[in-house]
Amino acid sequence: MNTFVNLSEIQFQVTDQLCLIHHEHMTLFGGHLICKSCAKEKVVNAQDQHLAEMQKSLLQQRISNAGLKKRYVDCGFKNFAVINRAQEHAVHRCQCFAEQLISGEISNLLLFGSSGTGKTHLSASIIRNILHRSLRSVRYFTSAEIAQKMMDSWSDHSSSEDEIIRQLTSFDLLVIDEYGLHDRHEKRLEMVHKVLYSRYDQMKSTLLISNFSLTQFEKDLGTRLWSRLHENGLMIVPCYWDDFRISE
Ligand SMILES: [Zn+2]
Repeated sequence: MNTFVNLSEIQFQVTDQLCLIHHEHMTLFGGHLICKSCAKEKVVNAQDQHLAEMQKSLLQQRISNAGLKKRYVDCGFKNFAVINRAQEHAVHRCQCFAEQLISGEISNLLLFGSSGTGKTHLSASIIRNILHRSLRSVRYFTSAEIAQKMMDSWSDHSSSEDEIIRQLTSFDLLVIDEYGLHDRHEKRLEMVHKVLYSRYDQMKSTLLISNFSLTQFEKDLGTRLWSRLHENGLMIVPCYWDDFRISE
């Protein structure tokens, strides 16, 4: 079927009727009264709506690709309960960190302290902020997942350990949660450290989350890595307050 429409065959007729919105003469077109300005606005609105839908879908795709667990997908600074000064300070520092990354600065962040204090929630807020307000790439992994990914590459010939490190270094921000929790095996720890060294070399920002104390963190990372994290700018945010999950 030929769907081509020959516009020259269509009858246009300018009428005396005025558009109530634009006060322009309306045109009789295919049996319908049409205001040219109204028609133009409709097309522009449809294009804007299409663009907004595309942007929304792209953002959802990027949030989904960031690797956040379902529980944390809707976590933001706004729904982080602040009832004491320590929490207020933590939220403020995390917001500053997000701002730095959005503006293209390089920085590292340590979120450490008791379990159940909402550290992962804060990291999810940072991730969502960055994705909403910039085109920077962000990826969340637990420390154990990183170690597992690298160990899998030893038996999987389609990707080498170097490629995994390169891939983990490519993100503008890498969030490593549960540092020190399931990576106690020396080899596993070494793998996570390899990623941290590579990110330092490429001047990429990293967010480390752990239940370690600051002293444990420093000891575990070792003097070289500890000083390298500082070199690219290091924010330290202690999270010591009651367990959210128990107090709720
Ligand atoms: Zn009109």
